[in-house]
This record gives sequence, C-alpha cells and structure tokens, in this order.
Amino acid sequence: MPFVITDPCIGTKDTACVDVCPVDCIHPRKDEPEFEAMTILYIHPEECIDCGACVPACPVAAIYDSHDSTPSTQKDLIPANDIYRNGDADTMAKAEAIVKAHIEAHPDLMAIDPKERAAAHS
Ligand code: SF4
Ligand code: SF4
Repeated sequence: MPFVITDPCIGTKDTACVDVCPVDCIHPRKDEPEFEAMTILYIHPEECIDCGACVPACPVAAIYDSHDSTPSTQKDLIPANDIYRNGDADTMAKAEAIVKAHIEAHPDLMAIDPKERAAAHS
C-alpha cells in the first residue's frame, strides 16, 4: 500500500521527503521543470517501496503510510497521488485539479498554518 502526500504540503513543498526517498518516487523534485507549477508533491504508488523514510523527514506531517491510514478529509488526495505522472501533462493536470478541488472544499484546513494542519485532520 503506497504512502500518500496530503494537504500540509500545500504551502510547504520543501522536498525534505525527496531527499530521503531511496527510489526517487516523489515528484516533482526541485530540479525538475514541473516543480514551480505544482501545488504539492506526489508519490508514485507503484514505485513506492513502503520504506517509511519520508514520514519523519516531512516537517509538517503531510505523509500517511497507507490509504487506510489517510484521514477522511484527505482521502480525496489519494487519487491525485495515484494519477500523477511527472512530465505527463494530462495526468499532471488531473492531479492538480483534484488538489484545487480539495483546497476549495476545505477552507477550514487551508486557513491553518501548514505546520498545524495535520493535527486538524479528521
Ligand atoms: S515510503 Fe519510502 S519509497 Fe515510499 S515515498 Fe516514502 S521514502 Fe519513498
Ligand atoms: S517533506 Fe512534506 S511538505 Fe516537504 S515536500 Fe515532502 S510531503 Fe511536502
């Protein structure tokens, strides 16, 4: 079961997770041209080896270790992680549309500082 990046990454995007991932399955990296345009980073569900290294590296607790452990308010972001393929304009647009819809649906969470947002996940 792949790991999932959720909404504390919005407004953070510091890529600490990328630096520790042993299989380079988190994108876009800072050195990829897609980085500036993307709202959050995404974990490739088939490339993730469930090692767990990214979870403690994330300064805002944005990463959950499975679909089941992803809180209900964040489950809409599971398909965004699943669909995103770095460099593929169609899947990138679809993933970003899911994230934008999440932002619109959760003004309450977006009003919270990213460092405190995970604590408000339910
Ligand atoms: S669990 Fe491991 S392989 Fe999967 S995204 Fe995190 S660091 Fe990468
Ligand atoms: S470490 Fe956390 S906030 Fe930073 S890019 Fe990765 S998921 Fe996003």
